Amino acid sequence: MRILLVEDDRAIAAGLSYSLGTEGYEVIVCPTAAEARRALAEETVDLCLFDLGLPDGSGFELCRLAKQREDLPVIFLTALDDEGSVVMGLDMGADDYITKPFRLRELLSRIKSVLRRYGRAEALRGTIEIGDITIHTLEAKVTRGREEIPLTALEYRLLLTLAAHPGQVLTRGQLLEGIWDIAGNFVGDNTLTVYIKRLREKLGDDMQNPTIIRTVRGIGYQLTAGGRAHG
Ligand code: CA
Repeated sequence: MRILLVEDDRAIAAGLSYSLGTEGYEVIVCPTAAEARRALAEETVDLCLFDLGLPDGSGFELCRLAKQREDLPVIFLTALDDEGSVVMGLDMGADDYITKPFRLRELLSRIKSVLRRYGRAEALRGTIEIGDITIHTLEAKVTRGREEIPLTALEYRLLLTLAAHPGQVLTRGQLLEGIWDIAGNFVGDNTLTVYIKRLREKLGDDMQNPTIIRTVRGIGYQLTAGGRAHG
């Protein structure tokens, strides 16, 4: 997740950049509108944080640019006396604003909620198709046509782990790692075999000659029916 932070107050910019970094965001800091324009043109950005008053321009014009470019999510960082103009910013398509000084936690929750709205949060990737089966990662459910395939949390995670690497052979160790936080340490090789068998049954795989989850003897398993991720 890359955040473009445009803020001419260096203390705020440095603090925010550090804090967002520790939260796992990659931050591009620009102190001027000119640098922000260049970053918007050249960099991959997932979300913009724009200060309104910049030495050589305003957050408003940057918002217009960001929305033109690819409808990027925009949150304004405003001073108390900007509040009147915030309405204007929201009219221009900004997604949210936060008034300085703010708590980091508050900003993080706004960022997450805006990213979720745009479907940009990595865990909320959308849908993954495996043949006629669809994994809806937003709702953590699996369907065939209009019918939902009821999976346990563990079966779902197992399928998601396989689907994250379509066509690739995953070792039993890799699969166990993928379900570790749900299954815990006590799941061994034999249990994994049982889980795979149940998952195959539920997905309607051919139990004699599985074509959706293929067994790769001595190594592990492979999701074969052309798993494909969609935005
Ligand atoms: Ca400023």
